[in-house]
Amino acid sequence: MSDLQVRVAPTSRIKLRKVAMRVREVLGAKSDEFPSDAFDLLLSGNFPEYKFDILPRSIMGRHHGLTEPDQKIIFLREDVYEGAMEGNGRDRFTFAHELGHLLLHSGNYLARYDPAEPKPTHRKFEDSEWQADNFAAELLMPVSAVKSCADPNELMEVCEVSYKAAQVRFDVLRSGGFI
Ligand SMILES: [Zn+2]
Repeated sequence: MSDLQVRVAPTSRIKLRKVAMRVREVLGAKSDEFPSDAFDLLLSGNFPEYKFDILPRSIMGRHHGLTEPDQKIIFLREDVYEGAMEGNGRDRFTFAHELGHLLLHSGNYLARYDPAEPKPTHRKFEDSEWQADNFAAELLMPVSAVKSCADPNELMEVCEVSYKAAQVRFDVLRSGGFI
């Protein structure tokens, strides 16, 4: 999670979906639900080019997760990590969101704007947070799951996400004709 909405190279929902599907494939996530075991595969050193560090609240403060894409490292707050492993929807989304930053945004932080300057206006497709959120949604709630669920409540249960995340995903895909 980052408060900074950084301008990054533009991408589309379809491209984010492809990256998320590839991650699912590599981690062996076969069902609509993205299993906590798949997160654990990442954390237990199976992909040595990426680093994960679990830090206490005393260091992370209000940050649930932080990512340094160029260092290929994700920092997760201890309680968020534990929540993600236990199936807490919000914490699973945080982990997936940070994974999005890790995989999508190396080199892009050069574009970070000077906070003293007026906030830049950029399109959502080139916004770091929009991209990480949509990557997380594609990873945790594949299109097949949204198609098979009658409403956000069912999607929330099938995919182990928060009601809010399920509702946004449901609305975006249903109103966009699953695009
Ligand atoms: Zn973020």
